[in-house]
Amino acid sequence: MNEKATYIVMLGPPGAGKGTQAKILAEKLGLVHISTGDLFRENLSQETELGKLASSYMAKGELVPDDVTIAMVKERLSRPDCAKGAVMDGFPRTPAQAEAFEALLAEIGGKVDLVPFISVPNDVLVERLSGRWMSHAGRVYHALYNPPKVKWVDDVDGSPLYQRDDDKPETVLHRINVYYDQTSPLIDFYRQAGKLVEIDGTQEIEQVTEDLLKAVA
Ligand code: ADP
Ligand code: ADP
Repeated sequence: MNEKATYIVMLGPPGAGKGTQAKILAEKLGLVHISTGDLFRENLSQETELGKLASSYMAKGELVPDDVTIAMVKERLSRPDCAKGAVMDGFPRTPAQAEAFEALLAEIGGKVDLVPFISVPNDVLVERLSGRWMSHAGRVYHALYNPPKVKWVDDVDGSPLYQRDDDKPETVLHRINVYYDQTSPLIDFYRQAGKLVEIDGTQEIEQVTEDLLKAVA
């Protein structure tokens, strides 16, 4: 095997800033950013079978079944660009996914190195998600906290930004509940494994990045 690969799992509720930070971290560390939400949305826009299957769950703010999600991640991690490791964003999201991820990494001689848990209170999450603007390439903006140079236009490629259907207030509240029910048990799972680092996600984006880089060093 080549040099050891690095796997970082970004943990936190919807709107905590996982995607924003995972992108920056992956770039700085030379790792691949793997967002299961982005992968599902790509499949959805290309109208693949996987996209059709996932869309009914996503629209309701429910999780896509574990077996489907795990198979998608396994395929993604097998590609050559993942040789140095990855920053995982939105996966694992259930205890079953976390177990499957351990097994998957063991197969390829890797392990989870670090789990930054970005904590943000619920009222802030709702405000963040309701102002989130997305580019089709998966870049993330906020109407107030991280605005593009021109409203509703991607800074990088000039394409129009959009609001996610599941960022509507009703779905947002449900997604936060789903997080507490199904994902928050992973906080203890990774804490017991000695891998959890708690990060205050209420700070400015740059400050959160600084704390993350300190945790990684
Ligand atoms: P997640 O991937 O955890 O759902 P995102 O990275 O998509 O979170 O961020 C959710 C929204 O909050 C986006 O609109 C993003 O621009 C904004 N955001 C991210 N981090 C911060 C921060 N530290 N302060 C203020 N807004 C933020
Ligand atoms: P957020 O950034 O707001 O946390 P994501 O983009 O990660 O949201 O996820 C959007 C939706 O995609 C989820 O509500 C869920 O339906 C589906 N999804 C993403 N990741 C997973 C996962 N690991 N397991 C099951 N479903 C997932």
